[in-house]
Amino acid sequence: MELIIDNLSKTYSNGIKALQNISLNIPKGMFGLLGPNGAGKSTLMRTIAALQEADTGTITLGDIDVLKQKNELRQVLGYLPQQFGLYPKISAEVLLNHFAVLKGITNKSERNELVKALLYKTNLYDVRKQNLKGYSGGMKQRFGIAQALLNNPKLLIVDEPTAGLDPLERNRFYNVLSELGEHTVVILSTHIVDDVKELCTNMAIINQGKVCLKGQPLEILESLKDKVYKKTIEKEELKIYKENYKVISEKLFLGKPTIHILSDKNPGGGFSLTNAELEDVYFSKIFSNTNSNSN
Ligand code: ADP
Repeated sequence: MELIIDNLSKTYSNGIKALQNISLNIPKGMFGLLGPNGAGKSTLMRTIAALQEADTGTITLGDIDVLKQKNELRQVLGYLPQQFGLYPKISAEVLLNHFAVLKGITNKSERNELVKALLYKTNLYDVRKQNLKGYSGGMKQRFGIAQALLNNPKLLIVDEPTAGLDPLERNRFYNVLSELGEHTVVILSTHIVDDVKELCTNMAIINQGKVCLKGQPLEILESLKDKVYKKTIEKEELKIYKENYKVISEKLFLGKPTIHILSDKNPGGGFSLTNAELEDVYFSKIFSNTNSNSN
């Protein structure tokens, strides 16, 4: 089972080209779709979930034509949108049970077993009797995953799930997601590089509606081998370095910026070679993409 997106384009009525000839083959496992805000990730996710139309292009999941066979798709789809409402005054257990009824699981003992298993899987079993009103952001997201898994989906889409979660909650969420990938096509859309770094075996970077890189994170990192140099500088120097080098990332270390630059050969001047990180790949792609478009 593979999700194949071929030449997908979408221009909104205001003229914004949200998707421009997107082609991606997404195998089973965790796929990271990484891109800055406004890149077109949600438009792509909603189109794959058959919630909105594309102008041109096709999407297939196994033998399902996603854009035409919407009902068939929905039977095998789990979708956790960027924002979703929950009834605040009922418990997770009751609401999940209710959703299971809506999904057509009518046999009560089968349903109880399923609800229990999903609450365990998402690490919510101990808080299953609590009203959702009292849930933290991370608990709500994990509940979202539990409901998205009710129909044992073949395709699971999670759109920006970790935005706004603190590091502990993000980790708990990673643990839940990492269990799912083996038998399911899981697409994780995110602007957070760590999400992809921790979880994904395949990835693509999109920017301004276009795929600017796709592949396996490890192979992609290899492509920047011996090309990333680092140096710790003074804050006031940042501007001048940005003018003279391809600065692809900057991080504060003990109050001082440490910059990473992209260079085919040793730039001298106190720079030292460093291992490329996924952040470097991401920023170098976004950087060159944005620059080439503004030229
Ligand atoms: P992302 O999820 O990566 O932040 P989106 O898919 O939400 O990106 O948006 C891509 C672009 O399309 C943005 O420029 C956004 O402003 C625009 N856009 C999104 N939805 C609509 C819409 N319904 N009508 C018009 N423009 C939209």
